[in-house]
Amino acid sequence: MKIIFYGTRDYDHLYFDLLAADPEYGCTIKFLTANLDVDTASLAKGGDAVCAFVNSDCSAPVLEVLAENGIQLLLMRCAGYNNVDLEAAARLGITVLRVPGYSPEAVAEHAMALAQAANRRICKAYIKVRNNNFALDGLLGYNLYGSCAGIVGTGRIGAAMARICHGYGMTVLAYDQYHNPELEGIVRYVELGELLRAADLISLHCPLTAETHHMINAATIELMRDNAILVNTSRGGLIDTDALIDALRRRKFAGVGLDVYEDEDGQVFEDFSDDVLHNEVVPVLTSFPNVVITSHQAFFTRTALQSIAITTMENARAFDRGEPLVNRVEG
Ligand code: NAD
Repeated sequence: MKIIFYGTRDYDHLYFDLLAADPEYGCTIKFLTANLDVDTASLAKGGDAVCAFVNSDCSAPVLEVLAENGIQLLLMRCAGYNNVDLEAAARLGITVLRVPGYSPEAVAEHAMALAQAANRRICKAYIKVRNNNFALDGLLGYNLYGSCAGIVGTGRIGAAMARICHGYGMTVLAYDQYHNPELEGIVRYVELGELLRAADLISLHCPLTAETHHMINAATIELMRDNAILVNTSRGGLIDTDALIDALRRRKFAGVGLDVYEDEDGQVFEDFSDDVLHNEVVPVLTSFPNVVITSHQAFFTRTALQSIAITTMENARAFDRGEPLVNRVEG
């Protein structure tokens, strides 16, 4: 099987090169730095499968070009698939496989890192020390021990975050339509409104769907405690950015930690350090002293990259051999 990888960086070679050389997987990989979109989709010609990422365009027009070029398999080397038009994929006979739960702890540990960086003003403190400014003004934070965490979505990552919060000595509330039996004795499930009213730290871990789009908006922010800490490592669309900025201006939050934000697609994973930034969201958000932003790196650990590579190659092999497709996603 020949797989065309889109949007690759040096770190993608780390584990995929090793596995591609392993006869057990019997495949060749062509690495493209260009990301998948309607202009680059025809580069897949001659391949059997395409491998794409969270910031790839997998909309119907792109999938149509892939299908015209003989692509039958779309391998997502990520957990989320909100960027894939599953209906179009089914219509075009393209099977979509993903990597669920490659390392939930990688994402959850980053969520807690963001919560603490925002709460204890770590980035600001570091810059102050670099400027020989050893004063503590502006760095006052809150203890997490003894406070209340609210986990929205208790799948793999939310469960890992719940366990971390429990380890911090926090009371942990959770909201999800499905109650995760692994979390018995660790969380107490409540309705979303109760969670938002009670939690000092709110961490979002549900997928972006029509239902969850802007679940954090002016009305739900209003329910939250003053001086809550809000963390989003899930998808930017869960939060209404205008409502968030408005609340930050009113000093609603003690801290906000974001690994994802709305409209990140045009710039995520790219280097614009010597360029003009057209997206206005990041400069506004970073102007607040209590906001910490990273660019979709919560997954980015060696453990996670290795796990993503292994599952992606196992997905490809299962498809090639006609074996059951345990990681298939369908509309
Ligand atoms: P998962 O499927 O294991 O868990 C998602 C949970 O959300 C499920 O329990 C589901 O019932 C729940 N859910 C769905 N709709 C909900 C709603 N309306 N309200 C409350 N809960 C709801 O997924 P996961 O592996 O834990 O990943 C969660 C999300 O994290 C992914 O969808 C993806 O968007 C994001 N993610 C981000 C990164 C990153 O690097 N920042 C990496 C991986 C995943």
